[in-house]
Parts: sequence; structure tokens; C-alpha cells
Amino acid sequence: MRLDADITYIPGVGVKRAELLKKEIGITTVADLLAYYPYKYVDRSRFYYVRDIDETMPHIQIKGRILSTEYVGEGRTKRYVAHFSDGTGFVDLVWFQGVRYVEGKYRLNTDYIVFGKTNRFGSRINIAHPEIEPYLEQKAQTTQGFQPMYNTTEKMKSNFLNSNALRKIIKTALGIVGDVKETLPDWLIKKYALYPRSKTLEQIHFPQNTDSLNKARHRLKFEELFYIQLSILRQSKYREQRYRGFVFGKVGDIFNNFYEKCLPFSLTAAQKRVLKEIRSDMNSGRQMNRLLQGDVGSGKTIVALMSALIALDNNFQACMMAPTEILAIQHFQTFEQLVRPLGIKIALLTGSTKKSERALFHKQLRDGTLQLLIGTHALLEDNVEFQNLGFVVIDEQHRFGVAQRAKLWTKNVQPPHILVMTATPIPRTLAMTLYGDLDVSVLNELPPGRKPIQTFHYFDNKRNALNGFLLNQIKKGHQIYVVYPLIQESEKMDLKNLEDGFLYIKEHFPSYKVSMVHGKMKPTEKELEMHRFLIGETQIMVATTVIEVGVNVPNASVMVIENAERFGLSQLHQLRGRVGRGAEQSYCILMSKYELTKETRQRLETMVRTNDGFEIAEADLQLRGPGDIDGTQQSGLPFDLKIANLAQDGKLLQFAREVAQEILQTDPFLESEQNTLLLSQLEKMQRNAINWSSIS
Ligand code: ADP
Ligand code: MG
Repeated sequence: MRLDADITYIPGVGVKRAELLKKEIGITTVADLLAYYPYKYVDRSRFYYVRDIDETMPHIQIKGRILSTEYVGEGRTKRYVAHFSDGTGFVDLVWFQGVRYVEGKYRLNTDYIVFGKTNRFGSRINIAHPEIEPYLEQKAQTTQGFQPMYNTTEKMKSNFLNSNALRKIIKTALGIVGDVKETLPDWLIKKYALYPRSKTLEQIHFPQNTDSLNKARHRLKFEELFYIQLSILRQSKYREQRYRGFVFGKVGDIFNNFYEKCLPFSLTAAQKRVLKEIRSDMNSGRQMNRLLQGDVGSGKTIVALMSALIALDNNFQACMMAPTEILAIQHFQTFEQLVRPLGIKIALLTGSTKKSERALFHKQLRDGTLQLLIGTHALLEDNVEFQNLGFVVIDEQHRFGVAQRAKLWTKNVQPPHILVMTATPIPRTLAMTLYGDLDVSVLNELPPGRKPIQTFHYFDNKRNALNGFLLNQIKKGHQIYVVYPLIQESEKMDLKNLEDGFLYIKEHFPSYKVSMVHGKMKPTEKELEMHRFLIGETQIMVATTVIEVGVNVPNASVMVIENAERFGLSQLHQLRGRVGRGAEQSYCILMSKYELTKETRQRLETMVRTNDGFEIAEADLQLRGPGDIDGTQQSGLPFDLKIANLAQDGKLLQFAREVAQEILQTDPFLESEQNTLLLSQLEKMQRNAINWSSIS
């Protein structure tokens, strides 16, 4: 039987099972089936004594005899029980379903091996729906080792297609499948001492021992990560070939005047280094695709602005796209103020820009008089055409989808240089996979004079003390944020939550003014409230996470986060980054309910322990796994990781990337004979994936 044969060719898989396998877990071919890896293995290498077992144990096996059987209970609770003993104690084997099938199948006083998960029912230990095999001296030898466990759905289980059944089908398939074609070239398998594919498949399902299991896993994980890296790196080579980059040959008057006359502070060493990296990209003839990572407050905005000025110096236009209107407005105001002495034409374009103004901007963009455009996704609209766009900044890029980013590529005949910025540091492994084809710059230094934010986690019993503390801060002239969670499914409740919070605050701080901002307000109202807070007219800002991204109020010294248990780590970190922007000591107070899951407690503890965004990102990845990390969904991992785990396989990923790099160095388009298999595998992979070539 061939690997690409339909699963109905496997004995034991009829039309009905085939349909279930397809519908429930997407398996249609033998190859699919063999790529359905176990989620865990159970050690069947030893027998437990019945007297030693209790309900806390995982799957175990025991050896003994059935002494008697009976039906217990009536109607829906009726069950079939076999009383089992190995001479050291008694255990009940219980069946709730499929009783007819079991009844009479097993003989009394015959040696069996029983395998399953222990439970306690009253004072008795039982094993429900155990697996039972006759005990034979020789057989006992051969069943030793690890038993694979497979995930199955409820529907599969209720049709008797459980883990055991799958195991049997897979075992059968492995027995009859011939000619397992390699998916990695022989030279590569030899060079890195990998398991061949057939052995890998056999051992991943039915490992002889830990060593062979590890080797099988290693091969599969390597292969998975390797092809992803090969694909990413090859695409970026291809892109490099296809698109040239605009050459910004000079740093001119605009940049230099800004540097000498307008820059209100001296740049940090990190900012200088990153500017040099960007500058050198812009002058290289390659189109820049650079990711700028820097913790909240590390000063990315000024780097973006100064890079844009280089574009302007070379007679190109530049634009910057922010994820929210508030943020776009703030960038615009900052920029406009900073560059005012330079006489640059700069504008703000958002969803709420007036029609007449919009028309004017469109015209000025086309004739080139408008040099620097700041905005929201309004920038992406088709009628926004530039005369000569040379440089694009995407702020808080994890908020944008792949398609939105790709759109900016089309705004000039030749794609502009692209700088994407994120304040949500991404662990290296994730960055290599999500943004594997981007060059990365890191701002790993905060501007001088910042005091690290102090973070505390409190429960409601500290409410009064908290109010006293807040009052104190306000009296010192500081401002305060109080943030409430927003979960889309229950917007109404969230809004109520927020409004209650607003009333509570007003009641407890009667002599001060309170702002409220949430996503349901009209942009103009929102902006007005933000503005009142920004200029210090209000002392307290009660808000949902709309204030999360980028907004800068240096006088705010306290961030109170209500229901902190409902926020993810990166979001908490982002919110905290709204304070600590001035010279004063700042605080972040996490308020939570009393009962917390272990994971939530760890999350809050991480926040209290560290201010380092990279450490937090790493903790987030470890706690939640890569699938849940903010931004990964939108950023669209174009592949499924079946076995590799970005949280755990960082080293292997690095290795896979290096191997891919080495191959592409000598054979960038995989044209040599020894790499034909690589090429055909990639093509197979890409037939199912989205088009990478036009995406940054
Ligand atoms: P982020 O990286 O989070 O986008 P911003 O660019 O908003 O950070 O910068 C945060 C604050 O730090 C701003 O008020 C900015 O003016 C200020 N800032 C940036 N660079 C420096 C610097 N080198 N020295 C002093 N202040 C700086
Ligand atoms: Mg920012």
C-alpha cells in the first residue's frame, strides 16, 4: 500500500470510519493518518500491584484475574462490573457502554493484562472501560514499552473510534505500508544523523524506548521547522532579486537641521545604532523590510520620524500608519510640533477626516506637495495615491493583518522601504518564524532618567488603601488611569462595568474631574476626553483598553488595572507602559478577584516581578503557547505546527534555520540536483499556503 492511498484501503477502516476520520480530524490518506502523532505515551513497561494503586495515578497496567461479574444499577446508570484481583487487592472494571460487546468476552480465572485510568467511586477503586489483553508469557515481553495515546473527538468516541481503535488502525497501516518515500534528501539525513522517514513514522507511533522516541521526534520537529525556514528564507531571496530598493543616497538638510535644531533631547545609544541600521538599509539598493522591536517607552517614534526625514531628503514621500485614531492623532501632533521649524508639509488622515480635507490631501499626495502623511488604515484605501512613496512606517504592527501590510507594498511602482515597529516584544523563536524574513533591530535601552515602574497586585480588601494612595498621588499633581477589561462577547456588561467604575470613582474623588473613554464613543468624543486628560483638565481617566496603544501622557503616574485576571500578559505590559513616561516614580496596581487559576497567578506574578518586555514575552510564550500570543493569529502563521513547539524548541529552530541558510547560500533557488527533493517539498507545501512573496 502506498502512503497516498485512501484510508479505506486499510483493513478495519470502512466507509463510516473513513468519513468520521475525514470530518472530525481531516484525515483522508494513509500519510495523513501516519502524520497524526500521539499526544502522549503511556509507560507499559511495568505492572502495578493492585494494593498500590489509587485514583491519582495516570494510565497504568495490572495483571490478574476476573473473579466475578455483575450488572449494577438500573436504567441509565446501569453498568457492567468485573471484579478483578491480582492477589494483592481488588479493583472493579466498569463498562457503561458497549456492555453487550464485553459481556461474555472475558473468562473467569484466566490471566489478563488490564490497562487504563484509575478512578475512585466511594471507597472502591475502579477502572472504566479498560483495555484488556490475555496474558501470555511471550506477549508480556512484546507489549512492553510505550503505548501511544491519540486525541479523538466526542463524535469519534461515541462511534467507538477512540484512542485504542486509532492505535490499532495505525498499527495495521504501518504493517502494510510499503515504499515510504523520503521527504528529506539523503545527504542531509546522513550529514545530521537523522532517522530515515520510515523508521521515524514507526517509532513516533510505537517507540521501542525513550531514545528511539526522542530520535523520531527530533527528525519530525527538525523537518517541520526546517521547511518553514527554508520557505521563508527562499522567499526573501526571491524578493530581493525581484525588487530593487530605492537608494536614499544622502542625508540632507531636513535631517541635519532636525538633528541640530529640533531634536529636544539627545538620542540614546540604542536609538543611534538603530538609525544607522536603517540608514544603511536605505542606501544599500535592497528594499528594506525591518522590524523594530523596543519596549514601551524606548523611543521608537523619534527613530521612525528621523528615518522618514531621510526619505524626504531624497525627494520621496513617507507615511506612518497607526492602529488607532487616538494614536495617529498623537503621532501627528508630536511630529507637527517637532518639525514645525523645518517647513515640511505634513498631514493627518483618518476615518474621520472631513471629505473636503481628504480630497485636498489626495491631490497633494498625488502632486507630491504633501511629504509626510500620518494616519490609520484610512491610508490603505485605493484612492490614497502617492507621487513617490519611498518609506512606510507601521506602528504597533501586531495590530495589523498580513493583507493590510501587503497593501502598502503596492503604493509605489517599486515597493517602498518598510519599517514595522512593535512594543510587544516577540520571543526570538516566534520572531524567526513569524517575521523570519525581516531584519530585526532592537531598542534595548530606555531614555535616561526613567524610574522603573513599581507594580503591585491587590485584592478588593485593599480598596480603601488604594483610594487613599490615589488621592495622595493626585494631590501631588499626578494623573491616574483606571482601566477595565473589554471582552467583545459581552460588550453590554463590560460597558456597565466601566460605567459603574466611573460612578464609583466620581463618588470617591468628588473634588476632582474624571474622564471616561471607551470603544463605543464617537471618535470626536473620545478624542475630546483624551485631550482633556492630556492637558490635565481631568485628573482621572477611566477607560477600556482603547487607551492601550501608544498614548503618551507623561504626567500620569498610576495605572490601575481592574479585573487584571482577565488580561493577557502582553496586554498588561502594554497598559503598564502608559505610565512611567515622566521623571516621577510611577506605579501599576493590578486588582483581581480572589480565586485565580495557577496560570493567572503566574501571569500577575510575572508582572510584579519584572518590567522587561522580552522577559514577559518569553513568559507569555511559556504559559500560553505560541498559538495564543497576541498578534500571531492576525499575522497569520501560514502553516500548522504539528509537532514542533516554539516555546520549547528554540535551539532546534535556530539549528534548522542555520541549515536552511547554509543550503541557500550555495544554491539560492534550489536548482542543484541534490536539492531537487527540497524544491518539490517546498512546492507541495506552498500549494496549500498563502502567497508569501508579496507580504512583509
Ligand atoms: P515607544 O517606543 O513606546 O513608542 P515613544 O517613542 O512614545 O516610545 O517615546 C516615549 C517618550 O520618550 C516620549 O515622550 C519621547 O519623547 C521620549 N523620548 C524618546 N527618546 C528619548 C530620548 N533619547 N531621551 C529622552 N526622551 C526620549
Ligand atoms: Mg509607540
